[in-house]
Amino acid sequence: MMEQYLALKREAGGSLLFYRMGDFFELFFEDAKVAAEVLDIALTSRGEHGGDPIPMCGVPVHSAEGYLARLIKAGCRVAIAEQVETPEESKARAKAEGRPVSKALVKRDIVRFVTAGTLTEEALLEPRRANLLVALADVRGTIGIASCDISTGQMVLEECPLEALDAALARLTFSECVVPEGTEFSPNDAIPRAKSEFESENGKASLQRVHAVATLDGFGDFSRAMLAAAGGLIEYLEHVGRGTLPLLLPPQKRDAGQTMAMDEATRSSLEILSSQSGQREGSLIGAIDRCVTGAGARLLAEDLAAPLLDRGAIEARLALVQWLHIDPLNRAELREMMRNLPDLGRALGRIVAGRGSPRDMGQIRNGLNDARRIELFLGSQPDVPKLLANLLPQLRGHGALVDLLTRALVHSPPTERSNGGFIAEGYDASLDELRAVSGNARKAIAAMEARYRDDTGISSLKIKHNGVLGYFIEVPAKHGDALMAPDSGFTHRQTMAGAVRFNSVDLHEEASRIAEAGGHSLAAEEAHFEDLVGEVNAAREAIAQTAAALARIDVSASQAERAAEGGWCKPDIEEDPVLDIKGGRHPVVEAALSKAGDRFVANDCALAPSDRLWLIGGPNMGGKSTFLRQNALIVLLAQAGGFVPANAARIGLVDRLFSRVGASDNLARGRSTFMVEMVETAAILSQASDRSFVILDEVGRGTSTYDGLALAWAVVEAVHTNIKCRCLFATHYHELARLAERCEALSLHHVRAREYKGDLVLLHELSEGPADRSYGLAVARLAGVPDQVVSRAKQVLKQLEKNRTETGGSAAGLGELPLFAALEESEPEHQETLVDRLAEIDIDSLSPREALDILYELSSEA
Ligand code: ADP
Repeated sequence: MMEQYLALKREAGGSLLFYRMGDFFELFFEDAKVAAEVLDIALTSRGEHGGDPIPMCGVPVHSAEGYLARLIKAGCRVAIAEQVETPEESKARAKAEGRPVSKALVKRDIVRFVTAGTLTEEALLEPRRANLLVALADVRGTIGIASCDISTGQMVLEECPLEALDAALARLTFSECVVPEGTEFSPNDAIPRAKSEFESENGKASLQRVHAVATLDGFGDFSRAMLAAAGGLIEYLEHVGRGTLPLLLPPQKRDAGQTMAMDEATRSSLEILSSQSGQREGSLIGAIDRCVTGAGARLLAEDLAAPLLDRGAIEARLALVQWLHIDPLNRAELREMMRNLPDLGRALGRIVAGRGSPRDMGQIRNGLNDARRIELFLGSQPDVPKLLANLLPQLRGHGALVDLLTRALVHSPPTERSNGGFIAEGYDASLDELRAVSGNARKAIAAMEARYRDDTGISSLKIKHNGVLGYFIEVPAKHGDALMAPDSGFTHRQTMAGAVRFNSVDLHEEASRIAEAGGHSLAAEEAHFEDLVGEVNAAREAIAQTAAALARIDVSASQAERAAEGGWCKPDIEEDPVLDIKGGRHPVVEAALSKAGDRFVANDCALAPSDRLWLIGGPNMGGKSTFLRQNALIVLLAQAGGFVPANAARIGLVDRLFSRVGASDNLARGRSTFMVEMVETAAILSQASDRSFVILDEVGRGTSTYDGLALAWAVVEAVHTNIKCRCLFATHYHELARLAERCEALSLHHVRAREYKGDLVLLHELSEGPADRSYGLAVARLAGVPDQVVSRAKQVLKQLEKNRTETGGSAAGLGELPLFAALEESEPEHQETLVDRLAEIDIDSLSPREALDILYELSSEA
């Protein structure tokens, strides 16, 4: 057995091996230690290997899913080795091969691998979250990205230059990633696979084979990098499924220019799909998701992760939301109809992967049936908007399949396939006959029990059934002897502590009848199930389309519902670079405040080409960050095709969104906070265009006052004069106000505060003009710093301010500095050498210390 185990373990590679032994999956050696630790189950030992006891632990097969879920969550992969023959078959094989039957070992094979990115089981998946597997391939510097949610079969192919890979992966938030071995661009925990699997020719051939087409032209025009990535993805799926492929729908091509670009820093600081602490609660989606189905929630996440750039497409989504918004009664009825929709896409995924249960089949029946009802309901409404008119046809056309499934299946089919009982009466006459035979035999056995009681006079005699003996007659021990007599007609089978068990010829006969009919009917049900799987498989693409259409309708209704709840408005989408928001709110902060019984103060934002950069000052805790983020979120929500938390909004399309927060602690990446701040700021300066929207929150805070002010100054100038994008910049450097004198499209704003009887009152209200003072000490007092310390700080501040007026303050002389752009123009040679020097630096291999040294060196030369 150990030999067999070790051979399978070699095949399993880095995966834990679940080795099937009877009703348990057993794990041995290191695997056992890992699993026992993660699962918190007992670690025992069994036998010896090389003189040492073999560590072992095990989980029952019937509850394996729960244990698998925990292992996968902990980052493990698992190979499932099943018994692929019965003990009888194994003995027969041993005999045929001339080996001793007593040593025959049941053959086992790895039937599949369970990995985070290739799950289909309902119990292992989160209903409201997509589960992506990603494959990357490099074709001459272009990275192909194939991503697939095998639980629903959706597959997307795209490509990007290496520099944009991080941002693309941040959008995808995948569970598992495979890369060619030896690549340089591998994300953390990526699984290396043979390079040869990532060939574009191979990928093209795989896709053609999977979809049984001679050319991929009908699906789209895919680049070599995309095909190479698709090849790697399909090879991996084949490996994981041991040759059986899961549901794969035709690949969709995603063009880089189709969606708003956001990098990882922006996504995490805006807390779009999860909060900084990694929870859904406290994130944007947590605050707006009103979807009634898991598939809807998954699509909403996709929408928010990839807002659109095409005005027509955005407006089409908005029109549907508006249509659902206007009529609350219809919306309520629609949502009620959708509430009990099964997860069609995932049920389909399991059925196509060969792991479908009768319950999944019932879900397909119910889901398609409901889709038709929803179509009739929506189709009968007036003024159906275009997007919906396009979706409705996808909800119908399954009549024949629904009829078949309705006739074939019982009302609520079981999750277990092997026990039968899911094919409905009246579907198959011969199956009904077999069932009648066992039914009659059961009745006969019941009658037999009564007869035996009369015959023997033992009123406690019972006919029972168990898995080992089958049917038997049982009497209490004290009556045992009465039936033991040779002429009693009973044969003894087993003596228990309190009872004796017997058989009889009649009972044996009826029991065999039941067993035989049962075996035949199980086989018949099994055959019918396979046929149904075939039918569903043939309609897979249409079913997936129905599921997708339902999800889109759910998302639109969710957006409408959320808008109605919060009094949100439909944004006007424009081509001009404006951002004009009246009465804007932050959906997450507002929700948190209203829970606590507080009111959120709405604020306007009005950026236009002539006034596109707002510097925002004011006290800490005054609401600067909140204002910045709420405007970014409003843009994001609008371009995702939803209503926005405002009274009115005009939004000029934004091609890229940047959000930066100064001095955020990002120790996980092993860089100093200031370094992170600068690296992220550098990305804006190199990637933003005049159509972008940038929010900068206290950038420059991560270093000393002078350095920080100098950098903030230079960044504002660059954004204003070079990039010319819309930008909100929050800062507590009063000195920056001087920039308003020279930057014509920059204006000053502040969040208002008042001191009232020595207490600070934060109004959270945005006003025009520079901030008069920082209220730092009042904030300190508000935060509970002892009075004594605050008084002392007041004295120190007075002295400092006196010095400042005498010397002209830290902004002295800044007014005379030439502008950033002027600097570039006037000193081209100097620029040249600096650029050359910078180009020589391998930034990735620099330590923060070295980077600072270089900066010092460069600045001393400048
Ligand atoms: P700052 O960036 O100026 O330090 P924040 O934006 O972090 O301030 O806001 C601090 C707190 O003030 C928030 O957590 C929130 O509770 C409250 N707040 C912010 N903006 C508003 C607003 N518009 N209306 C009501 N409360 C607000």
